[in-house]
Amino acid sequence: MRTQLVSALLLLGTLTPGHPAPGLKEFQDGQGKFKFSIDTTLAPELEGWAHKELAPVVRQWYPKICAMLPSGGFKPADNVEIVFRDDMKGVPAFASGNQVSCNKDWYRENLKGEAKGCTVHELVHVVQAYGQAGPAAKENPGWLVEGLADYIRWFLYEPESRGAEIPATNADQIHCNQSYRISANFLNWALSRDPGPMLAKLNAVAREGKYEQGFWKELTGKTLIELEIGWKEALKGGTVAAVPVAANTLTEAESKEGWKLLFNGRDLSGWHNFKVKTIRPGWQVKEGTLACVDPHDAGDLCTEDQYGWFELTLEYNIASGGNSGIIFHASDEGDAVWASGPEFQLEDNAKAGDPQRCGWLYALYQPPNDPATNKPLDTTKPAGEWNQVRLVVSPEKCEHYINGTKYFEYQLGSEDFKKRVAASKFASMPLFAKTPMGHISLQGDHGQVAFRNVKVRTLPAK
Ligand SMILES: [Zn+2]
Repeated sequence: MRTQLVSALLLLGTLTPGHPAPGLKEFQDGQGKFKFSIDTTLAPELEGWAHKELAPVVRQWYPKICAMLPSGGFKPADNVEIVFRDDMKGVPAFASGNQVSCNKDWYRENLKGEAKGCTVHELVHVVQAYGQAGPAAKENPGWLVEGLADYIRWFLYEPESRGAEIPATNADQIHCNQSYRISANFLNWALSRDPGPMLAKLNAVAREGKYEQGFWKELTGKTLIELEIGWKEALKGGTVAAVPVAANTLTEAESKEGWKLLFNGRDLSGWHNFKVKTIRPGWQVKEGTLACVDPHDAGDLCTEDQYGWFELTLEYNIASGGNSGIIFHASDEGDAVWASGPEFQLEDNAKAGDPQRCGWLYALYQPPNDPATNKPLDTTKPAGEWNQVRLVVSPEKCEHYINGTKYFEYQLGSEDFKKRVAASKFASMPLFAKTPMGHISLQGDHGQVAFRNVKVRTLPAK
């Protein structure tokens, strides 16, 4: 809200430079790129919480939000001030330039609830810095500005809170432009095909003052009206739109069915590189994905835990020409994870050079020919899009699925399996497929690839 911001600036003038405030603490992000300060001079009772709980969130999330919302030539504020105030009746917080003002009374009441998330929302506004593109710039609709801030807050920062979910029964009463959480839910659905890049494009047009409703067609291939209809249908159908799509969370039903997240969307806990306890810098958390950003310094990533019989689902997004894989039953012996563990191959079928195609059990099983093309079945989407994998490894049979289509099944240790191993390059690898249990591993040495919604549940033994 512009008018509020201007008056806020005037008020803040009385608090700022000259005499350092007694409750002022300054700190930096991990890379020393950004400076932050939190001023609790007027709210001494919040000082402990602000520095212990809020500062780490600011330190971690401000740089993340900057990375999510780039645009040509734009430099986000490198000095962010958070000030607790005692004169903000009725408003929890607002942003103005590089400053976030926080209502100390509201914060005190919401320390255990919304306080941190509310601050993240305001930090998004600091990074958005909309409305500065000059006199010819179009004004951005409020629902978009607030929807984006709430999207980052509810779906990326605190998806586990499920704070912006919409029950199917409400779908008929809502509109995508109702702002805040409703618009956030819409954006989560509308951007779900490729959240990171689509968010960046939407932000860039908004910051440059070029946003108009017609942009949705360019961004998604559909008009805003068509998108709204699709979103409401999806809400009513109880499909992905009702839950955080890109957020690496489990639904209640999934938890009850024994599913566990192998990647929490925020850090690399639960993983390490093959045979070591550490993780090489080529693996990073990027926009809520587990990403191999530098295949020359990534190597194979292994789960801390070992799995015998299990079901694994995940989504992957591979760069053009990329090649990766999911290895299971990988032991800590041998020179590489694939020396012991069979591999569910991942690659860009259009441009990668390996004749072993995406979804195949490397060098052992491939899907039947598709009568339409007379080539092996291929249900992958092009490089740069998200694809779903389902891998079932049970004593009776193993199954490979890509985007919901079953490719084939096989049984580990069966006569057929052994025959194929004997005829493959694995015949000379004494450790190959010998252990009924091992790490699940993601290959990171042949191009960029990202994973999200990595879920596993163990299956009963025979
Ligand atoms: Zn806001």
